[in-house]
Amino acid sequence: MSPEAPAPDRRPPVGAGAAGYPERVQERRDAPLAPLTTLRLGGPARRLVTAETDEEVVRAVREADATGTPLLVLGGGSNLVVSDDGFDGTVVRVASTGVRFDGTRVEVAAGENWSALVDRVVAGAFAGIECLAGIPGSVGATPVQNVGAYGQEVADVLTEVVALDRGTGEVVTLPAAECGFAYRHSRFKAEPNRWVVLRVRMGLEDADGLSAPLKYAETARLLGVSPGDRVPIGDARDGVLRLRAGKGMVLDPDDHDTWSAGSFFTNPILDEGALAAFRRRVTERLGPEITPPLYPAGEGLTKTSAAWLIERAGFAKGHGDGPARISGKHTLALTNRGGARTADLLALAREVRAGVREAFGVTLVNEPVTVGVEL
Ligand SMILES: Cc1cc2nc3c(=O)[nH]c(=O)nc-3n(C[C@H](O)[C@H](O)[C@H](O)COP(=O)(O)OP(=O)(O)OC[C@H]3O[C@@H](n4cnc5c(N)ncnc54)[C@H](O)[C@@H]3O)c2cc1C
Repeated sequence: MSPEAPAPDRRPPVGAGAAGYPERVQERRDAPLAPLTTLRLGGPARRLVTAETDEEVVRAVREADATGTPLLVLGGGSNLVVSDDGFDGTVVRVASTGVRFDGTRVEVAAGENWSALVDRVVAGAFAGIECLAGIPGSVGATPVQNVGAYGQEVADVLTEVVALDRGTGEVVTLPAAECGFAYRHSRFKAEPNRWVVLRVRMGLEDADGLSAPLKYAETARLLGVSPGDRVPIGDARDGVLRLRAGKGMVLDPDDHDTWSAGSFFTNPILDEGALAAFRRRVTERLGPEITPPLYPAGEGLTKTSAAWLIERAGFAKGHGDGPARISGKHTLALTNRGGARTADLLALAREVRAGVREAFGVTLVNEPVTVGVEL
């Protein structure tokens, strides 16, 4: 039972039977956030509410908004860097459940585990998200940064997002075209205090047990095919999981290389001027025979590799001698070796960012969301 009487809410509930504050909403005061993040970092939340249905999520968010209380929406905590001082407000942990298939379409509650969903979809032999296997966190967070890996991203299959618009207090259905998806970005990330994702709808492909065409050369190579080929869908998933595990990108509580927020920096996107300057710096520093990895990223834009920049700036895997270090398996992951504080992690992130800027004139941008701190 909630220790605090909730403010009465006269707005219509999202679903039937949601009158009153549901008794099973779990609530805690001064709840440590570190155990709820994959980095195991961050101080306490003044109030933590675990909401297990859409109605509970909506009610908890509306209540915080009605009282002007700062709000943090939390999924699996796998893309968050929380201040050592914690969060002086309400954290609503989205723990709603429910997966409903209708042919190749699927509707999933925000609190479902993403990786478990991928396993179910692959077991049902539907294609479209098999290369996103092993990405930690909740389904509801996947549209936020348009999660992607190994040539697939959630925007490829997402058809609609059901979300609470905190601006109006209404629950709306946004078609994918209105979600502003881009590389590791979306409208939900661009308007961080506006949306709470409640449900995600996706359209998958029935390809007779085969995967979607493999876009990523590394995956194709591992599976002995060419980019563009299809393979049995389970092979695609297993191959991706093998590649990910080799980089410490599959959660393992016993492996500190996975105590991270995944890739800490996004791959920089350069316009023509920035690209020319970058090429000059690479030649000056590394010699004319070295070509950085470059990929087209839309009209006049080129993407390069953050991991390449970090390595070539002189940061090796395992770099660092404190409790926060670069992963021993992947230069792009910053990790807590146990006993780190958020301040340690940020100091490491700043060191890497400054080193890359100094070496190549490119400023790396953090991928995880920072709460109460800035890089
Ligand atoms: C080992 C590891 C590997 C990773 N690999 C990848 C990868 O390959 N590709 C990739 O894209 N990402 C990757 N990530 C990052 C992370 O897993 C994804 O960003 C994931 O979608 C975050 O989900 P979450 O539920 O943990 O979100 P959280 O960390 O809880 O929250 C992240 C952000 O989303 C917001 N949010 C969460 N739920 C909701 C909701 N229901 N409505 C509105 N906002 C919400 C939060 O407020 C916060 O701003 C990796 C992370 C780790 C630790």
